[in-house]
Amino acid sequence: MRFSAYNILTPLADSDEYLLMNILTANADILSKQEAEDVRKGRVPDPAPYREKGYVLDEGEESRLYKKAYLDFLDARDEGEIQIFFVPWYGCNFGCAYCYQQEYSGKELSLDPAVIDAFYTYIDGEFSGRKKYLTLFGGEPLLPGNTAKDRIRRLLQGAARRNLGVAVVTNGYHLEEYLPECKDIEIREIQVTLDGVGDVHDKRRPLLGGGSTFGKVVRGIDAALGAGYPVNLRIVLDRGNLADLPGMALFAKERGWTRDPNFKTQLGRNYELHTCQKNSGILYDRVEMYRDLYELIKQHPEVLDFHRPAFSVSRFLFENGELPGPLFDSCPGCKTEWAFDYTGRIYSCTATVGKEGESLGTFFPEVSKKREAIEEWEERDVTTIPGCRTCNLQLACGGGCGAVSKNREGTIRAPDCRPVRELLEMGIPLYS
Ligand code: SF4
Ligand code: SF4
Repeated sequence: MRFSAYNILTPLADSDEYLLMNILTANADILSKQEAEDVRKGRVPDPAPYREKGYVLDEGEESRLYKKAYLDFLDARDEGEIQIFFVPWYGCNFGCAYCYQQEYSGKELSLDPAVIDAFYTYIDGEFSGRKKYLTLFGGEPLLPGNTAKDRIRRLLQGAARRNLGVAVVTNGYHLEEYLPECKDIEIREIQVTLDGVGDVHDKRRPLLGGGSTFGKVVRGIDAALGAGYPVNLRIVLDRGNLADLPGMALFAKERGWTRDPNFKTQLGRNYELHTCQKNSGILYDRVEMYRDLYELIKQHPEVLDFHRPAFSVSRFLFENGELPGPLFDSCPGCKTEWAFDYTGRIYSCTATVGKEGESLGTFFPEVSKKREAIEEWEERDVTTIPGCRTCNLQLACGGGCGAVSKNREGTIRAPDCRPVRELLEMGIPLYS
């Protein structure tokens, strides 16, 4: 009797029961303590039900299933959409306490219209025949002033001519003034960050040089939803604002946002990416953040009306009645995500864009590519990261983030482990 190398066994929080899950064979079951003990020892009294569900299977069969799932994963990814980020400048009108781009943001606002034209010429050729959409990113893309507006308009018109959908990642401060520019554009999503209600937000996300931003960001969200645009509200969490989530949930409800089908939410974790945080004591690691979230949601279940955290595959399982397919790769960089900036440089993604030494080539003034580096990004997945190859969590984890791996280990071919077991431990009881 051989147990699958991809079985995940974990105790469930606030219970005596255990979860046994296998993403490759698409099964999840709740076990008693005794059954879990038997599985852990590799000796169950009756293997038949375990064999039926693929928790027990021979090596050849497992390897066949794995290869097929991998090829299906690659096919689906090749047919999927590419998200193309464009950074028109790194300048920003906010002085967020945790901004990882602070060290780049003193640069001039000097996007040459010729760079915009070269950008479109490049993506027309490079990604021809692929489904794709554009995401405006920064710094802050929606800055005041005629020059900024003119450049953003040129970018939007270029997208409209190509029938490209557009997403915008903005701090929301000038969103209302920019909405007329979005007419006749297929706006996929406007992502706006609000870190709490009133002062909680203002302390974390003030204007550069100081000053409240909350009221104007809220008016921007109201206006965007009122005009029928999809808004994705992002909250960047750390120990400084997690306790404000119930307040945020109530605020969004009272404002009518949570009733709007165009409104969705996203939780981000404040973490150290490239530069030192001024106050790194307030940062959570992933497990700590989800533990505090789990406890908070037990006290305030209404938070789930505002946001339903994924807790690895837990939410997916309960919302869809089945497990998601195997995740061979959780890092879209150079596969379904690319980033370009106003200097004419090409990067893997939003985590590397603008960072010294991370450019993978140029699209302006001439096209050049660092082929070896690009191939390394393209090939990064759980089959090529040595530390992931024998990990039983790999098909739920996907190997994590290449940029984080490189910052930590000096190479993107290193694991950035997701705490899959701990997240399932909390998520399964939360949603069942
Ligand atoms: S390197 Fe990290 S941030 Fe960049 S695409 Fe991969 S997972 Fe995302
Ligand atoms: S990153 Fe860590 S947890 Fe994820 S598959 Fe690799 S070794 Fe496993």
